[in-house]
Amino acid sequence: MSGRVRVRYRVTGVVQGVGFRPFVYVTATGLGLSGSVGNDSAGVLAEVEGEPADVEELGRRLATGAPPLAVVETVTATGLPVTGGTGFTIAASDAGPATGARTFAGPDVATCADCLRELADPADRRYRHPFISCTNCGPRFSVIRDLPYDRPATTMAGFPMCAACAAEYADPADRRFHAQPIACADCGPVLELAVPGTAPRFRDEAVTATRRLLAEGAIVAVKGLGGYHLACDARNPAAVAELRRRKRRGDKPFAVMVADLAAARSLAEISDVEAALLGGPRRPVVLLARGPGTSALAADVAPGSPDLGVLLPYTPVHVLLLERGDGAPDCLVMTSGNLGGEPICSRDDDAAARLAPLADAWLRHDRPIHVPVDDSVTRVIDGREAPVRRSRGHAPLPVALPVPVPPTLAVGAELKNTCAVGQGRYAWLSQHIGDTDDLATLEALTASARHLEHLTGVTPESLVADAHPGYRSTAWARRSAAGRPVRTVQHHHAHVASVMAEHGLDGRDPVIGFAFDGTGYGTDGAIWGGEVLVADYKGFRRAAQLGYVPLPGGDATVQRPYRMALAHLFAAGLPWAPDLAPIRACPPEERGVLAHQLSSGFGTVPTSSMGRLFDAVAALAGVRGVVDYEAQAAIELEGLARGVPADGTYAFGLTGNSPLVADAGPVIRSVVGDRRAGVPAEVVAARFHAGVADLVAELAGRIRGETGLHTVVLGGGVFGNALLLSGARRRLEGRGFTVLTPEQLPANDGGLALGQLMVGALG
Ligand code: ZN
Ligand code: ZN
Ligand code: FE
Repeated sequence: MSGRVRVRYRVTGVVQGVGFRPFVYVTATGLGLSGSVGNDSAGVLAEVEGEPADVEELGRRLATGAPPLAVVETVTATGLPVTGGTGFTIAASDAGPATGARTFAGPDVATCADCLRELADPADRRYRHPFISCTNCGPRFSVIRDLPYDRPATTMAGFPMCAACAAEYADPADRRFHAQPIACADCGPVLELAVPGTAPRFRDEAVTATRRLLAEGAIVAVKGLGGYHLACDARNPAAVAELRRRKRRGDKPFAVMVADLAAARSLAEISDVEAALLGGPRRPVVLLARGPGTSALAADVAPGSPDLGVLLPYTPVHVLLLERGDGAPDCLVMTSGNLGGEPICSRDDDAAARLAPLADAWLRHDRPIHVPVDDSVTRVIDGREAPVRRSRGHAPLPVALPVPVPPTLAVGAELKNTCAVGQGRYAWLSQHIGDTDDLATLEALTASARHLEHLTGVTPESLVADAHPGYRSTAWARRSAAGRPVRTVQHHHAHVASVMAEHGLDGRDPVIGFAFDGTGYGTDGAIWGGEVLVADYKGFRRAAQLGYVPLPGGDATVQRPYRMALAHLFAAGLPWAPDLAPIRACPPEERGVLAHQLSSGFGTVPTSSMGRLFDAVAALAGVRGVVDYEAQAAIELEGLARGVPADGTYAFGLTGNSPLVADAGPVIRSVVGDRRAGVPAEVVAARFHAGVADLVAELAGRIRGETGLHTVVLGGGVFGNALLLSGARRRLEGRGFTVLTPEQLPANDGGLALGQLMVGALG
């Protein structure tokens, strides 16, 4: 055995629950090596012995040939004395000593092509089994209770494998070798349809009966990977209207699920990048520009929205529901099972109680969901992904950090909350948690933070929260700190830092950071939201801002954009003439109160919010004066402007320096003038978008002149606007700037926690 060597390979990264041990087994035995492979709390550990060239080759393949869901971070080799022996074993997992290293749990993955083939094959023993999965697909994050990732540590612990499944699980040549969630009809979870007042139906009968119910217009609660959806036939106007009414949803768009890419193409034009996202393993809702096919859907699916959210089946249950035939709907509304703003229902008892007023029936199963995970939402702008919500399929994958951070928990913002833990060169972002304006969401924040700490082994030494004194997430951080320091970070600084971090900027050079959003607490107590910061992780200088206008009575004005139009008219010194849409929309008494508030300053806060300026212009253009959901007016304004040729722009006034102040007064005057001259709303909308994009380029140019900086970062929810983001990017790149935009995390507050983490840890 003189020529033999023995080496221990330590592999770290996302290497558990992704078929890594089977991959090592197959590769090592293929190379004629003996030894073993196992999981421990730090990742995968392989001890191999054989010819030096073969042992070396294994090391190479560990680094480069890993299974598709794995993310290999490091491979390190340690020489050991040879021990001899033949054969190769997969060691049972060992929780192992706390080594300081860590393993990463994987995200939930859509049913893979191999499993879909078996699902449809009458000769396969898992033919039509609604919980088919393998090492390459199925539930992960939503079922993991603990690490290392092994069946007893998941919610599959209560399903002992039958002999046939156990044989596959133990067979290195099998696709289900050590696949933790595997099961079959004999040993796995059972699908059940519960309709109040009738006997429950199971398995295929449950599927058939559910399809019939949906065809008849019923609303069915469907248990998925991370929680319950409410489903109904998207082509049935009465069903969709009823769902909207029961969910108290207002006009907020619903997403729809169709069987496959071909069906999706009948609804919208789909680019290659969009197709890859739709059909990829994460299976998010993809916002697509509506095609003519959407007219065959109920108008209430996404009223007034220029886009349609589409997703493809990601569990076998979805596939079976959307099979063609016997008159079952081919397009289903799939909306999260909750009342607006509440966390998604994931427990069966909770779903039975909370969804009772919303659903006619429950299609469920007995595999528990350990943590609720909402669908991810994304879109494509300029051929690049621009995420709207990063949740299922992503959580808890880490984001690599450009500089190491001490163990830290960042608690996120108030709305669209997500939290993040970081340590060393990684940050782990939670799934979407929700709007922290109710108790249930704060409880979900507690549970998510704890779960994330548990899965990552990070024990935060400090917490980071938004600087807003009234945010519930900030109060939560103080309550949860238990003596640890709580640092606060200015909201827009965090937006800029988040984009810097995802693009790997180490912060040595500051950037010109645009943070445009609806609301954030400023260092002067005003409500900021149209900010240009010269920033690094340690600090920022407010280099430019939208000029302050008085914001009357906070929340009411967010819901009623006509009030913001009145405030902008007042600030621009323009009369409230009755020919203007927002004046007509405002009841006379309210107008009187507003006039008093604005002229006295009583009950108003100065705001530089770009989101509110979009609201004001939408109201003045006659798009809408009242909204049902956040950013609705701006979304519809963008929808109008799309496809309208660039014909003119609106120029902001520019005054002051340090900060430069962009005065919206001239824009408001132009909008009013154009409307009075009979210029159509879509042209006004297009000119306004061009004006804001021009402003971005102009401000960046001036700040470059003053600082020499040439990297521009665009962040904040307003840059979820595809037309604006695209227009700003084009103008900036035309002037030679390096432009960084949110591509891994949402531009909106759902991406804030990463920026908080960086600023809190490094500032
Ligand atoms: Zn599979
Ligand atoms: Zn079985
Ligand atoms: Fe924000």
